[in-house]
Amino acid sequence: MNLSELAGQPRAVRVLRRLLETRALPPALLFHGPDGVGKAAAAAAFARALNCTAGARDACPAPAPGTPASCPSCAAFARGLDPDFQRVDAEFQAGLSDKEAAKQRSLSVDTVRHAVRRMEMRSMEGRWKSAVVVDAHTLTPSAANAMLKGLEEPPPRSVWVLVTHRPSELLPTVRSRCQPVAFAALGAPDIARILTARGVGAAEAAAAAADAQGSASRAAAAVNETASVPAAWLSDPMAPFTLAEGLPRELHLSRPRADELVSRAAAWLRRTRGAGAFSSADSRFVLRDIEALRERLRRNCDPRLVTMLAAIRLQELDAVEKAKK
Ligand SMILES: [Zn+2]
Repeated sequence: MNLSELAGQPRAVRVLRRLLETRALPPALLFHGPDGVGKAAAAAAFARALNCTAGARDACPAPAPGTPASCPSCAAFARGLDPDFQRVDAEFQAGLSDKEAAKQRSLSVDTVRHAVRRMEMRSMEGRWKSAVVVDAHTLTPSAANAMLKGLEEPPPRSVWVLVTHRPSELLPTVRSRCQPVAFAALGAPDIARILTARGVGAAEAAAAAADAQGSASRAAAAVNETASVPAAWLSDPMAPFTLAEGLPRELHLSRPRADELVSRAAAWLRRTRGAGAFSSADSRFVLRDIEALRERLRRNCDPRLVTMLAAIRLQELDAVEKAKK
């Protein structure tokens, strides 16, 4: 994706194009705005555009399938082989320390020092070096200070892009050194377009977009959850029992988990049956049953039993609907 393909961020794109045009870049930019609106994607597109040999104000567009339309620089970037770009995130840190990415809760001083050193390495003449720090609010104070040290005498033609949806958690000294670029919450039509481009059906995309509070990643997560989980409940006759058995032993943990599973089942039913959830008597009954189960869960009914019954009701509905076809 390049900047002109970025959905719903005309203001941020204008600012970035202007920076690309003048090349009067500050040592660091701060991309801030709600979670899941394209900040990190924009940062990657911006970094790619800095060295794109096909155009000055944007990177090459995503090539159509089967056409190698990218310039050599964008092509190298797409293959992850751009020596002048680094994405500093949990995965990058895990790679440096040989640990699991999911367990990296904060970005450490060692990680940032590594990135600063790479930033100081010479690149080929005329090329820009960039580092995109994803979830910059997870920088530890000493990591942030190491980055500030790197900003004191920034190498020529280098830029840091800090990406965060929690700018207030950054050190004030960091914030004040960055030029801010604001990203906005996305409109529902933009989110729906993003989802349909990923192959989600139009009705489901519209429903998820309406619930997503301006965040495309929240909408995508909702689609994934409601699409995958209860569908698996249907295909496996043992699913009600395995689901119940899979709940945590401790009641204070199993109750919220059961509530999550059961409400997910209800959301899935509404979404997959659409308006039909309310016109077909069968699915209407099941939906009502499932809501009643949630209510009983709140009144101390056993979480295992509630989860098992909800899954069984979905399986029964599925069997009835198949028999009618
Ligand atoms: Zn290019």
